[in-house]
Amino acid sequence: MANPSLLILPGDGIGPEVMAEVRKIIDWFGAKRGLAFDVSEDLVGGCAYDAHGTPLTDATMAKAQEVDAVLLGAVGGPQYDDLDFSVKPERGLLRLRKEMDLYANLRPAQCFDALADFSSLKRDVVAGLDIMIVRELTSGVYFGEPRGIHTEGNERVGINTQRYTESEIARVARSAFELARRRGNKVCSMEKANVMESGVLWRQVVQEVHDREYPDVELSHMYADAGAMQLTRWPKQFDVIVTDNLFGDLLSDLAAMLTGSLGMLPSASLGAPMANGRPKALYEPVHGSAPDIAGQGKANPIACILSFAMALRYSFDKGDEADRLERAVETVLAQGLRTADLLGEEGAQPVSTGQMGDAIVAALDASL
Ligand code: NAD
Repeated sequence: MANPSLLILPGDGIGPEVMAEVRKIIDWFGAKRGLAFDVSEDLVGGCAYDAHGTPLTDATMAKAQEVDAVLLGAVGGPQYDDLDFSVKPERGLLRLRKEMDLYANLRPAQCFDALADFSSLKRDVVAGLDIMIVRELTSGVYFGEPRGIHTEGNERVGINTQRYTESEIARVARSAFELARRRGNKVCSMEKANVMESGVLWRQVVQEVHDREYPDVELSHMYADAGAMQLTRWPKQFDVIVTDNLFGDLLSDLAAMLTGSLGMLPSASLGAPMANGRPKALYEPVHGSAPDIAGQGKANPIACILSFAMALRYSFDKGDEADRLERAVETVLAQGLRTADLLGEEGAQPVSTGQMGDAIVAALDASL
């Protein structure tokens, strides 16, 4: 059987630096676990614009549609700020998400014990936290029509429309239930069914999909505002949260920051299953290209490394190996290794991007 295929798009700024560490990890899995990938690498963002005059060529887009998973670093930088909107680096990323139709955005909030004091919440509230927010990404109020600003009488009116079809709700609900089955088997769906008709429909469809296809998964419903409160009061009550585009935007940022630094946060965006049963998938750290520290060896590679762990789990069915990689990250943090973004005020000496990657590889070796 052919090896699973992986397209790597390091992008701009710290993207190539953190991706170089992921390459060490990928090589390790090939050499030590017999998990070989067919890896190809290409350009996205500002570097693609520099080379080809576009942030994503048609050839790269076509490749992204063919592979089993895409892993992206970050795009953007101040040198591209004055470019026309149509060729800005971010357009490359948006094109990937749109043309691959990635409707389920997965944002884990996982708190490593060694970093629990980094959170703004008390240690016992966040230590050991492991939840997953599934945000609908391609519909809802960010896309609904009518939209715009017009004049009524003598004042301006701003309009956006929250619109969801049954099938849009059902497919993201399925993504959440599938994920829950691989985790704690619990889904909490959040909307505002008390004040929004789209919320009423959301609640009904999620319940119907559950009753018909996933009766083994525990399902609860919560109003999104109450959900925000519960997330800060006792986040460990949740396993998978599924919600719409707007609420998901807010709730996933809230949940992610329970755990500390931007340099630690992975993400995945999944679409419909392909012919081989794997979902279309794009994995990327939540952070951007961090131009303020690019080229200095200061970037934390863990967000990108954990994004690869998500690929192992959700695209390649290697949950055990994903666990192994996450444990290796936990080990190096427990040993006290910190990149500059993770240093507390009294501050030990930070390690470089490369040293962090090497330490994680050493922890992987020790796991055998
Ligand atoms: P950013 O995430 O790049 O940086 C915010 C702050 O966090 C900076 O101080 C940065 O040094 C720090 N930081 C981020 N990642 C880090 C890491 N791995 N290790 C250590 N520190 C880290 O956000 P920004 O400054 O608002 O944007 C910079 C550029 O990135 C802009 O061009 C923006 O458009 C782009 N951007 C891209 C993406 C993406 O590619 N998905 C996401 C957000 C921003």
